[in-house]
Amino acid sequence: MAEKTCKYKKKCGGCKYIDLTNEQQLAEKQKFVNKLLKSYGKVEDIVGMGYPYNYRNKVHAVFGSAKGGKIVCGTYEEKTHRIVDIAECHIEDKVATSIIRDIKELMPSFKIKPYNEDTGYGLLRHVLVRRGFNTGEVMVVLVLGSPVLPSRNNFVKALLKKHPEITTVVQNVNDRNTSMVLGENEKVLYGPGFIVDELMGMRFRISSKSFYQVNPVQTKHLYRQAIELAALTGTERVLDAYCGTGTIGMIASKEAKEVIGVELNRDAVKDARKNAKANGVKNIDFICKDAGDYMLEAAARGEHFDVVIMDPPRSGSTKEFIDSVKKTSPDRVVYISCNPETLARDLKLLTRKYKVNRIVPFDMFPFTSHCEVVTCLERIDAGK
Ligand code: SAH
Repeated sequence: MAEKTCKYKKKCGGCKYIDLTNEQQLAEKQKFVNKLLKSYGKVEDIVGMGYPYNYRNKVHAVFGSAKGGKIVCGTYEEKTHRIVDIAECHIEDKVATSIIRDIKELMPSFKIKPYNEDTGYGLLRHVLVRRGFNTGEVMVVLVLGSPVLPSRNNFVKALLKKHPEITTVVQNVNDRNTSMVLGENEKVLYGPGFIVDELMGMRFRISSKSFYQVNPVQTKHLYRQAIELAALTGTERVLDAYCGTGTIGMIASKEAKEVIGVELNRDAVKDARKNAKANGVKNIDFICKDAGDYMLEAAARGEHFDVVIMDPPRSGSTKEFIDSVKKTSPDRVVYISCNPETLARDLKLLTRKYKVNRIVPFDMFPFTSHCEVVTCLERIDAGK
């Protein structure tokens, strides 16, 4: 049996493995990855977490009303739009959860009503909290259905009084009927509008919409493995595709001649450029573009990369991207995947020209059924 259980487990549905011990979870994930990827090579032992609790540095809560008008906040009940009112969660950062609970407590005295998705009445839709585990900086994003937050300054003051650890508060307006949490329009209510976290000796600025790995403890191990597999010697031209705020590329830049990061999200690219400057990294450039489009153009220009590091979202990469990677003929491809199913699909395309030489699974998301995998592929004719 697991050491802890969760009273919301049935309704929330986020932690499919909540009743398993850490060892059992790791065994399940190992089995799953083995089944999907063993035809490509030996799947190494999964790298687990010693203490698999409260690892999430980013916590999101949706706000609404229960019958009788009571404010509720937490997560959607699986496959519905009913909100499960969550007071504690084994995987979320405890500071973040307690900030969200206190926002809920403060709302009535500031006459802030939760938003109602059906009627469009009310104001507060979501709260997003991000905490830099290594710096302690905390960002609170208040997502509103309309732009006016009553007694805004006093509300922020009251929140800061309860949580002096908060370093920035951002108001985001999402007035659309959409499943996206964040809208376009943002205003900084307190602090710089972003947080900075530290990872592997570098400092990374993260704004509300930029991707940042949610489990910073495991991220260190994951990145270290990826960079080790890239086997850089200081002479390489490296592509960091789907680079987010440039974390992997910047860490790799110390051991490469030149790094190019490609990322679709404008805010993440802005963060990435500022991050490079702040860390004094001069041999990196970021391009804001669809990775597939960028790669098609690079291949057409006859560009060559020595190493391609790619870390696409759960939907995986695309045929355009992979075909163009093959044209640019890197010696090695390091593929970091948060979805072994799309990884297996993409490896099928890559292995016509590359052979897989390492497959290392990582448990980045304990208690959930998700699993991360790092693979290293080598060009079949490399060195010949
Ligand atoms: N390597 C980064 C980010 C990985 S998450 C890190 O470790 O932090 C995947 C990233 O791919 C996200 O930042 C997302 O915005 C970006 N992305 C999604 N689709 C993309 C596309 N078609 N082209 C380029 N980037 C894309």
